[in-house]
Amino acid sequence: MFDNVLIANRGEIALRIQRACRALGLKTIVAHSEADREARYVALADQAICIGPAAARLSYLSPAALLLAAEATGAQAIHPGYGFLSENAGFAEQVEAAGLSFIGPTAASIRIMGDKVAAKRAMREAGVPCVPGPDSALPNDFEQVAAIAAEIGYPVIVKAAGGGGGRGMRVVRAPGELAEAIAVTREEAQRAFANPEIYVEKFLQHPRHIEIQVLCDQHGTALWLGDRDCSLQRRNQKVVEEAPAPGIARDLIARIGEACVEACRRIGYRGVGTFEFLYEDEAFYFIEMNTRLQVEHPVTEMTTGLDLVCEQIRVARGGRLTLKQSEIKLSGHAIECRINAEDPENFSASPGRVTRWDLPGGTGVRIDSHVVANYVVPPQYDSLIAKLIVHGATREEALIRARIALSEMKVEGISTNVPLHREILEDADFVAGGVDIHFLEKRLALRQRAELP
Ligand code: ADP
Repeated sequence: MFDNVLIANRGEIALRIQRACRALGLKTIVAHSEADREARYVALADQAICIGPAAARLSYLSPAALLLAAEATGAQAIHPGYGFLSENAGFAEQVEAAGLSFIGPTAASIRIMGDKVAAKRAMREAGVPCVPGPDSALPNDFEQVAAIAAEIGYPVIVKAAGGGGGRGMRVVRAPGELAEAIAVTREEAQRAFANPEIYVEKFLQHPRHIEIQVLCDQHGTALWLGDRDCSLQRRNQKVVEEAPAPGIARDLIARIGEACVEACRRIGYRGVGTFEFLYEDEAFYFIEMNTRLQVEHPVTEMTTGLDLVCEQIRVARGGRLTLKQSEIKLSGHAIECRINAEDPENFSASPGRVTRWDLPGGTGVRIDSHVVANYVVPPQYDSLIAKLIVHGATREEALIRARIALSEMKVEGISTNVPLHREILEDADFVAGGVDIHFLEKRLALRQRAELP
């Protein structure tokens, strides 16, 4: 049991976590870098402590700085948010060793799921469908690897077991490209992730990205809270997310959801988590599990009516989930647009002072943002400045609300991707629903060649 929480993150998610803590009557301690001193959630916190300079390596990514801040402020728990140290098993271990609660799964769960080969093996054992390919690391002998790839059938993808952030992967379209892909990926895996293990699986050509949200307590109850479609991506970064995924049979999703909670029970998972799948030709293929809160959790909140961050904190305090799977009812449709401080044409970052910040409102409209007028977007971090989330009784109603909300949103002083979102929400294929993960990049390429307005 804890009655205060140190928030080891920044931006919109720091504010989101702070709101949940306050709703639960917990005191909040914000650990911030020098660049975030003026942030809105810092002023709202019960306690705030500067943990270092703007560079994340010396602040938000420094376990030592965070643990020292926890000690100095009398923190009893740490919420890591997403990104930064949220999936760092070593940090989770250090937090618990210091006698604090880590608001997340055990270090052991983070470690298994952080190793994509081990994760795939654990998922297969629990009956979760995976991408065709062995659930073991590749041997060093090239002839053996070539035989494995041939058996899977080209194209295949070579991936680093310890990879993340869309790095450490190579698509191999023909046998002649295999040797080089292996050498390059192994080298990158060692350099970037300090783990030379690589594996190979079938490369799916037109998949959608569909994920399942889970919530588990420490007493063996595991629930799945519906699905999300996050296929709208640019460079493996999600841009628009929605719940539920349009056009997929609900009984198929329910079967996948049940397999996910079975996997959670087997590994003794606790807290919130997300199982990510590729979906192609009416089949699901597990790719990885995120052992943390996701950026896109609000679309699940809007369709389930649950406050995921409050639930996450309750289970971290040892609470029992009283909800039953049969009581989880999905209602309506939700869409989230990630608003980034970036040039809508060339995507270069656009930090600086926000001189105008007019937000939309109305029925079914939610904004999660730490930004206020005159806020200065620092150049050092991720460009996400707001999430616009809309909910409607149907997907059509959600789309209408999203378009109106985007038309009301006026930001000056910096550039944002609001114009891109307006375009996406008018696109006939997106409106029809069910586009694949290449849709946005293809659309951007067409626009580049001036074949689209
Ligand atoms: P990361 O941890 O780096 O995000 P993932 O395993 O989640 O890596 O893969 C990131 C993205 O790479 C996926 O969303 C998908 O677009 C692509 N990808 C990964 N594996 C495959 C595959 N087997 N076939 C097709 N695309 C894939």
